[in-house]
Amino acid sequence: MTQTPSFRSDITVELVKHSASDTDVLWAARVSTAGEQSIEELSKDPERSKGLLNFLMRDRHGSPFEHNSMTFLVTAPIFVFREFHRHRVGWSYNEESGRYRRLEPVFYVPGAERRLVQRGRPGKYEFVPGTPEQHAVVGKVMEESYRQAYAAYQEMLTAGVAREVARAVLPVGLFSSMYATCNARSLMHFLGLRTQDERAAVPSFPQREIEMVGERMEEEWARLMPLTHAAFNANGRIAP
Ligand SMILES: Cc1cc2nc3c(=O)[nH]c(=O)nc-3n(C[C@H](O)[C@H](O)[C@H](O)COP(=O)(O)OP(=O)(O)OC[C@H]3O[C@@H](n4cnc5c(N)ncnc54)[C@H](O)[C@@H]3O)c2cc1C
Repeated sequence: MTQTPSFRSDITVELVKHSASDTDVLWAARVSTAGEQSIEELSKDPERSKGLLNFLMRDRHGSPFEHNSMTFLVTAPIFVFREFHRHRVGWSYNEESGRYRRLEPVFYVPGAERRLVQRGRPGKYEFVPGTPEQHAVVGKVMEESYRQAYAAYQEMLTAGVAREVARAVLPVGLFSSMYATCNARSLMHFLGLRTQDERAAVPSFPQREIEMVGERMEEEWARLMPLTHAAFNANGRIAP
């Protein structure tokens, strides 16, 4: 069956499972000084809790931030996953297979708000908006190229070639999906590197598409662990 490619510029992130709260951090931290404590005892004094979280973040006592878990379903182009999978510590991944299933023809084309033009040199550059002509050429060339690549993939599958061989012609703009599980500490490290924020003590220059994933993860995390998130921002967005 011949499939027609579709094109999209959005990236989706869904929090599918979680066990994560500010209390998890307090519970892990207070065992050092108070021994075992109940959740009720821990929640008694909110100001003290905020103070403790801030102290842990500031002095980089990182391990109490690991006793929690968030699983995200991310749908993004393959080039985003290439960057993402460099984050080795505190992350678990499972991505859809190009060996076991036929890959769907869904491809990434930057949206109108995506800055297209790079100025300056690596390590010291900025991105500025593209002209309407540049957006038009990007859309046209990408779509043509994707159509051609997917037609070649389908031709090989029709000829009986294995999916794992035929996929070699598919580009990194093809959408893929993965489950990614992390804890607050590994997420903070990821956000410090893959988002831009004026509160960051150490600036980073992530590619916009992985930053879009980071921003959506951060929204979910901030909802689950608001005090930890506030302490992260107050301490320069550096993972403890
Ligand atoms: C803006 C930007 C540009 C980049 N450009 C490139 C590029 O051009 N080419 C390229 O290859 N990569 C590039 N990267 C990827 C980068 O080098 C890291 O691989 C990625 O950011 C993951 O960071 P990490 O190793 O700190 O994270 P993790 O792998 O999650 O590791 C977390 C921390 O654990 C410790 N750790 C992990 N593994 C080791 C180890 N083997 N030895 C000692 N300590 C360890 C370190 O403290 C590390 O910070 C880029 C990243 C960013 C954010």
